Amino acid sequence: MARFTWPDGKQVAAAVTFDADGETIPLVQDKEHGHERLTLVSTATYGPAVGVPRILDSLKDYGIPATFFVPGFTAELHPEMITRILDEGHEVGHHGYLHERPNTLSAEEEEAVLVRGLESWERLTGRHPAGYRSPAWDLNPGSPALLKRYGFRYDSSLMGNDIPYLVSTGEGNLLELPIQWILDDYPHYNMNTGGISSPEKVFEVWSSEFQGYHRYNGVFILTMHPFVSGRPSRVLLLERMIEYINSFDGVWWATLEQIADYCLGRGDLEIWTPPDLKALMER
Ligand SMILES: [Zn+2]
Repeated sequence: MARFTWPDGKQVAAAVTFDADGETIPLVQDKEHGHERLTLVSTATYGPAVGVPRILDSLKDYGIPATFFVPGFTAELHPEMITRILDEGHEVGHHGYLHERPNTLSAEEEEAVLVRGLESWERLTGRHPAGYRSPAWDLNPGSPALLKRYGFRYDSSLMGNDIPYLVSTGEGNLLELPIQWILDDYPHYNMNTGGISSPEKVFEVWSSEFQGYHRYNGVFILTMHPFVSGRPSRVLLLERMIEYINSFDGVWWATLEQIADYCLGRGDLEIWTPPDLKALMER
């Protein structure tokens, strides 16, 4: 029996997602002086200027829908980027305002950042976003309830499974579309984390992982950054991955919002209640 079922008898769901951080990157990497380090600023600018248009061209060639998570600050700087992403049938999700990591914020600050990002988002798109992905994939114990309160239909920041599941928040369940570092371009390509890997090696890792997701009926969510994966050899790798995935039967390509629509329409997802580890340790 299939471990998880997908629409029309498909075997696996596949989604390409991009965290289009843009000019928030230098501010994240060096809070004090990032704004005056021109090489760092230009590295970030490469995303909206070169990476995103190149990626959008490839997605159009292959007819693949994608989800872009954009910090409010970056969206305000590049409204034309948001317009093109939406015009070409992709989804845009919330990704903070200045790419603030929730685990560095108080509950009040976290809410203020969420609201500020929402204001930019709604001004630029005219609607409320369906999804949220936390900057650097950090969430606080109170974050899922906060997202629920502000009407988000899904989150994509946790790693507790490889099929969709629900997070119990105390204010209703929040749908989680789980990610993993193995399927993120940053640790593979960044010189401060994994070193500058060859696309060949990344293909080996991602394609093996896809084989497993196909077998176990997972939701295969690739996470890429336009300033990282918009580089020439890496866009070629993205196209190679799309062709590889298309060589399998039963693949459902979808945006995360489309996957959320499907998942929220069924009543049988597993529910995860985050454990209170502190209380458990003090027993
Ligand atoms: Zn990000």
